Amino acid sequence: MRGTSEVTRTVVVRSVPLPRRAFRIFVELEGMYRNLVEQLVLYAVNNNITKFTRLKAERYRDVRSLYPQLPSHYAYTACQDAAERAHSFLKLKRMGRARKPYPEVRSVSIWLDDHLWRAEGLTLVSLATHRGRLRVSVELNKHFLRYVNRGWRLTTEAKVKLDHKERRLIFYITFKKEVSEYKPKDYVTVDVNEDAEAVLIDGIVYLLETGLSKVTLGYYYRRKRVQEKYDRVYGSGSRPARKIFKGLSNNERALKREIRWKLAALIVREAARRQAAVVLERLGREPANHMIEHVKDPQLRHRVFQAAFKGMQRAIEEKAREYGVPVVYVDPRNTSRVCPIHGAEIVYGRNRHGVCSKGGETWHRDVVACYNLLLRALDGDGGPAPSRQRAFVAVDGGPMPLGPTAAHEPTGVPRSLWARWRSLGATSDRKLMRVSA
Ligand SMILES: [Zn+2]
Repeated sequence: MRGTSEVTRTVVVRSVPLPRRAFRIFVELEGMYRNLVEQLVLYAVNNNITKFTRLKAERYRDVRSLYPQLPSHYAYTACQDAAERAHSFLKLKRMGRARKPYPEVRSVSIWLDDHLWRAEGLTLVSLATHRGRLRVSVELNKHFLRYVNRGWRLTTEAKVKLDHKERRLIFYITFKKEVSEYKPKDYVTVDVNEDAEAVLIDGIVYLLETGLSKVTLGYYYRRKRVQEKYDRVYGSGSRPARKIFKGLSNNERALKREIRWKLAALIVREAARRQAAVVLERLGREPANHMIEHVKDPQLRHRVFQAAFKGMQRAIEEKAREYGVPVVYVDPRNTSRVCPIHGAEIVYGRNRHGVCSKGGETWHRDVVACYNLLLRALDGDGGPAPSRQRAFVAVDGGPMPLGPTAAHEPTGVPRSLWARWRSLGATSDRKLMRVSA
């Protein structure tokens, strides 16, 4: 399973504002490119073509003769662009979700290949146009430099979009990197919850608040209120309502994305520093019964599951790939029901606290889950039976600082705090809240 994988990241780079005359050339270029794509998409959809190679074989010659002054590779990339648009449209249509008989080519980013663009140093991009090669200066940004400095390779694929208002070109540039996974020496276990992640590192369980479920529910109810209000005034599915919905959805997506990426980066960096594997629960397609019990509406429950559980795991997996951190999946069944030390059932009362029915010690549910995930990872087979032996070794001063007298409380960290951290090691105890009953 251990191997090398290729990771890609897209970075946005903007040109400086261009003089009117230069920008007009790009506006002409965009117009021609758009026209090519529109014609190609129409043809592809009519002939049920979703493959670039076939579209190019059948249409390249005609498309090429349409604008002989245009560098020939635009006809080539327009075929790629159109094939992808046709592919996703035909898929929607098959599912009965296409709203129009033909796909609309609304926003255009011009696809570029190695003949059409190249970076000249870090601040100049040269582009092939119908008026010859043009050079534009780009604004360096931190994001771009970070990839350059960390050994990512610039690829030849790029897209460019026009910002008509500011007369700038916006480049979408792709970086690639080969990453190989290391052999783990340790484990960092992550118990994903709806509004927090419990993370076990070096014998401490951090409860890092995400609020992902709260964000999802909050936006859901806001949308509902907006809908009721607008439906009363404008009738259902009105344009003003749709516009507000779109704004709300964009905000929601951006916020969740930011929370997930930041937290995933924090966890994965800690794992990488310790050459540890990240241990995650193997999630099914649907939320398990105990996960989001209080959300009764099945559609909403699915949404929370996707946002807080699946989405969070995907972010961690994606980050782990970037850092070469191995990910281990274990069976999530009953991870919080059984005492990691005694193997006896834990009887839960209120506030996620329970008492071991054999040893009588108190446990926080998330601490139990984290240790049981660790035990399952140590077992290696990911099976549901935790290794008792390991737990007893730990009590005798083994690698796990677990004992009947230990405080089995997680260290709660609000989002406003961890969002500013570069590492978990940099924490000062004073800043941390103890999660209390
Ligand atoms: Zn116990």
